[in-house]
Amino acid sequence: MSTNLEARPSSGDPVDDATAERLAVALRCVTVSREEIAASGADPDSAQAQTSLDTEFRRLGAHLEESFPRVHAELELEKFGHSRLYTWRGIDDTRTAALLLAHQDVVPADEPGRWTHPPFAGVVDEEFIWGRGAIDDKSRVLAILEAAESALAAGLRPRHTVYFAFGHDEEVFGDTGAVQMANRLRESGVRADLLLDEGGVITDGIVRDVRVPVATIMVGEKGYATVRLSVTDAGGHSSMPGRQTAIGRLARAVSRVQDHPMPLRITPVVTDMLARLRPHLPAAKRRLLGFAGAAAPVVARILAATPQTESLVRTTTAPTVIRGGVKANVLPQQAEALINFRILPGDTVESVLAHCRRTVRDTQVSIELVGMSAEPSPAPAPGPQFDLIAELTRQVAPEAAVTTGLVPGATDSRHYDDLAATRCNFAPVRLTAADLERIHGNDERLSRVNYARLIEFNRRLFTALAESDR
Ligand SMILES: [Zn+2]
Repeated sequence: MSTNLEARPSSGDPVDDATAERLAVALRCVTVSREEIAASGADPDSAQAQTSLDTEFRRLGAHLEESFPRVHAELELEKFGHSRLYTWRGIDDTRTAALLLAHQDVVPADEPGRWTHPPFAGVVDEEFIWGRGAIDDKSRVLAILEAAESALAAGLRPRHTVYFAFGHDEEVFGDTGAVQMANRLRESGVRADLLLDEGGVITDGIVRDVRVPVATIMVGEKGYATVRLSVTDAGGHSSMPGRQTAIGRLARAVSRVQDHPMPLRITPVVTDMLARLRPHLPAAKRRLLGFAGAAAPVVARILAATPQTESLVRTTTAPTVIRGGVKANVLPQQAEALINFRILPGDTVESVLAHCRRTVRDTQVSIELVGMSAEPSPAPAPGPQFDLIAELTRQVAPEAAVTTGLVPGATDSRHYDDLAATRCNFAPVRLTAADLERIHGNDERLSRVNYARLIEFNRRLFTALAESDR
């Protein structure tokens, strides 16, 4: 049920059964996006799979329309495939206050047997709402609609126009959903004060030495590229192999790339992040950060020591797929490996490719980009509306230290980057390292308390946008 705008405490209360159930119903819609890298040899989606996917998206759309009648009566809705673009006209609709992005699709659940509850059962218990999409990202779709529905019930109207853009293909890079919605906004000349999307959360015990939870409002994202290394050989019988098979040559190339990561570098957004965390660090670490310029290489090495923070200071290298050979006594004619890179601002897709060529130093290994690639955000920094999001975060999570950061992956936001003055990738849900593994892993779930906080945060945003004359 919608609750009164004024009557919410700042944190701690769980959502009621009806609110939890509305999210759970959305989790029961199997809106799974499957990534097919052309090079992987995987079969393209059959027509039948596409039909059943269409059915699941339509079920989700019908559920949203039924659950949020005011939103669907009072906002304009345009569809781009299964993507949904809502326009909430401001009192002064010559300006755009905000673009709120979220996505309706989810990644597959490949090990359903290892889940506590089946991934698409949408189970609600005393503490949690379970299912694929509970965190990433259906909770954000529903929380925005919950908050808008109650704002409409309270007679609230934004001063300037607000858009909700709910994509259907974020997990497969957004070409038919987010790109189309962004084009439509671009053609209409939309320039928003704020873009808000998924990315950062409030983490417990992940930033070393910081004793309080850390709310990371991310202000841009890393780039993305997948490089294929492949070797072609004559083949033959394994009794006369010569000095090296295609597999041996490929393995050497992969290990060279793995052993020679791209260089460490402190970017301005990391300097800003550390400055904001500094008051929460023990004295010794605080002193170290005080010598910012001189200590940069030391700080970079400290951050590089754990995988979670290493991603902040370099383009990461992850060999993810290797294939080759058919039979133990037959020489392989083909071997290939895929290496996934997340690119730090300052590096580019092209510089990653050049780095691979330099590192492998073997003309028999062909090196090429495959699948989707994306450049990193050009110059990520907190924009003018960052302070509003930081303030709302302090209101709903007063226990947390607020800082900035970079999304380690690619989100739909990159398609909208030029459409807003301030970009924030953040949701105020408080997660442990184990919870973070559930995203794209097994047993994804969101606590009722977290979900309530997420809805409250959006409610307060709508209140601020109704009152603010920024
Ligand atoms: Zn997501």
